[in-house]
Amino acid sequence: MSDAASETVASVVRELVDANHILFDQGVVDGFGHVSARHPERPDRFLLARSMAPALVTEKDVLEFDFDGNPVEAGAPAGYLERFIHGEIYRKRQDVMSVVHSHSPSVVPFSVVTGTKLRPVCHMCGFRSEKGTPIFEIRDFAGPGSDLLITSGKLGAALADTLSDGPAVLMRGHGSTVVGSTLRQAVFRAVYTEVGARLQMEAMRLGPVTYLTEGETVGTTKTISTQYDRSWFLWLKAARNSPMSQ
Ligand SMILES: [Zn+2]
Repeated sequence: MSDAASETVASVVRELVDANHILFDQGVVDGFGHVSARHPERPDRFLLARSMAPALVTEKDVLEFDFDGNPVEAGAPAGYLERFIHGEIYRKRQDVMSVVHSHSPSVVPFSVVTGTKLRPVCHMCGFRSEKGTPIFEIRDFAGPGSDLLITSGKLGAALADTLSDGPAVLMRGHGSTVVGSTLRQAVFRAVYTEVGARLQMEAMRLGPVTYLTEGETVGTTKTISTQYDRSWFLWLKAARNSPMSQ
């Protein structure tokens, strides 16, 4: 690999470490959950930390995987049980450059109820379909006695099918997976999926909710897509100033 290519990989790895810390500081991940980036020089591979809490990830913990979830380096430490989420989404979606999987708490209720979908209630959440975020039902693929985790390529592919061409998919009784065309967009969407779920629940307690129209989801997404760096650098500073980083 040339020096220039190495530098590109190194910069993605650095940003991926920052993304891990931001997602913890913003309450999207806890001891569990993970974020990946497509490899900048090998689009058939992705970068993801070894199995560990996101807040503790450093550059040396980031591994390279193929789409089948196999680490490229021989003797690599154990990867996340659910790394198949990432590989199968990158395989299916050429436009996706980053994937965030989390169990963020306000989102899970929307994965287990019928009749109430997670829908966009505000401009920061306009990236979601006005028809509601799809829900992946693992029983349809793993039967009634699974551990609910995406622990195989087969389950990862089924999840990617449910995600389809959208920005997010809920996973019944488990969490959600959010994608982006950049790492910063994926992090932004993961944070505002959690925030939007909280706002929708609060609004529903007050009365009938007026959701964004399809046109408003398009308009707000277009405007907000120019603003990711504004929150990224704020969240990065907050994460670096957190007691966890001392
Ligand atoms: Zn999970």
